[in-house]
Amino acid sequence: MEHDDVQPALTALAEDEVLLRDSVAEFAEAQVRPLVREMDEHAKIPKELLTRLFELGVMGIEIPEQYGGGGARFFHAVLAVEALSAVDPSVGVLVDVQNTLVVNALIRWGSDDVKQRYLPRLAADTVGAYALSEAGSGSDAFALTTRAVPDGDAYVLNGRKLWITNGNEADVFLIFATINPEAGYRGVTAFVVERGFPGFTVGRKEDKLGIRASSTCELIIEDCRVPKTQILGEAGKGYKVAIETLNEGRIGIGAQMIGIAKGALGHAVKYTKERKQFGKAIAEFQLVQGQLARMATEVEAARLLVYNAARLRDAGRPFLTEAAMAKLYSSEVAERVTSLAVNLYGGYGYVKDYPVEKLWRDAKIGQIYEGTSNMQLVTIAKQLLG
Ligand SMILES: Cc1cc2nc3c(=O)[nH]c(=O)nc-3n(C[C@H](O)[C@H](O)[C@H](O)COP(=O)(O)OP(=O)(O)OC[C@H]3O[C@@H](n4cnc5c(N)ncnc54)[C@H](O)[C@@H]3O)c2cc1C
Repeated sequence: MEHDDVQPALTALAEDEVLLRDSVAEFAEAQVRPLVREMDEHAKIPKELLTRLFELGVMGIEIPEQYGGGGARFFHAVLAVEALSAVDPSVGVLVDVQNTLVVNALIRWGSDDVKQRYLPRLAADTVGAYALSEAGSGSDAFALTTRAVPDGDAYVLNGRKLWITNGNEADVFLIFATINPEAGYRGVTAFVVERGFPGFTVGRKEDKLGIRASSTCELIIEDCRVPKTQILGEAGKGYKVAIETLNEGRIGIGAQMIGIAKGALGHAVKYTKERKQFGKAIAEFQLVQGQLARMATEVEAARLLVYNAARLRDAGRPFLTEAAMAKLYSSEVAERVTSLAVNLYGGYGYVKDYPVEKLWRDAKIGQIYEGTSNMQLVTIAKQLLG
């Protein structure tokens, strides 16, 4: 018996969502898949691929149409990040940072002037980066020491940022600095800084375990004059920009993680059906079937958490705890599922000619960036204990 008032499945997608997911997945197969190994080896995303990502429209998913963007919702960004990450999580995080951190912050906190100047560029051809962390401040992000001192109609910034995703590709950087170190988090201010501003340099790129093609860079800021009109939100209220964008951003990392896990599961299913030992496909062994079934169950559970957090966000409902749970769990699932995929490939899983060792390396970052797993546990426990 059918009930009209019953909600469809928790993972049910609207028609436009299916369309976006499928077109991004198709793009990932055709345009990204052939480059995966080379990008990992050379630790670089080719410029032509960036251009194609802009053409596809995934660099400005939530940017309103009046600024040349897709005018879609956060959930669409989550679907795009998942689909790209299933093929290459480095491309996934490039798109994730652009949408869920940079564009999101500008839409939410940018003045009309800032929106008019930056959103059309971010939709068309400009990559953004989000610079909060420093060498001495990671989990304790508001202990940052990059300093902004007022000088007429500008602030003069000095300091260094570390671990900045998209550092190599970006032309627009959201930089968090303090206008008053004594005020603690109440001094934190968000500035929009362009690559060409005198005194701003992109420094060393990290040589990483995974997501190697995603650039992770140091930023060097020396007497960099930034007009007051470049402040995002209010001076001294940058902590709000940081907290609120990261709360949303970690749902995007959840999407990256379920993409990785889904990608690894897909490879494992295909391989175990092809690989023969003891005269039959290894997928015919019940122990192997059990492993695959467990992987599929975990991917589904993680996807439910991620989609639900994203749906809550789009509905304007509280989602802080759900986002923390989604990131915590999906990053653990990604690590477990990719590790099992390596096991199921046997020796072939351990070499670079096959895709799963890379996904295993790529998965690890999910438990570190945008709040380590411990920090997610702290958030969840706070909510639990009141
Ligand atoms: C590849 C990559 C990309 C990144 N991209 C960006 C980016 O684009 N922008 C940006 O601003 N940052 C970025 N980061 C930085 C990232 O967000 C930080 O590395 C992360 O927040 C952890 O900070 P940390 O490295 O200083 O570790 P620490 O904070 O020193 O943590 C070390 C360990 O101590 C634990 N710990 C710390 N405090 C507590 C506590 N109170 N309770 C329990 N355990 C605790 C942590 O869980 C962790 O296990 C990136 C990092 C990497 C590796």
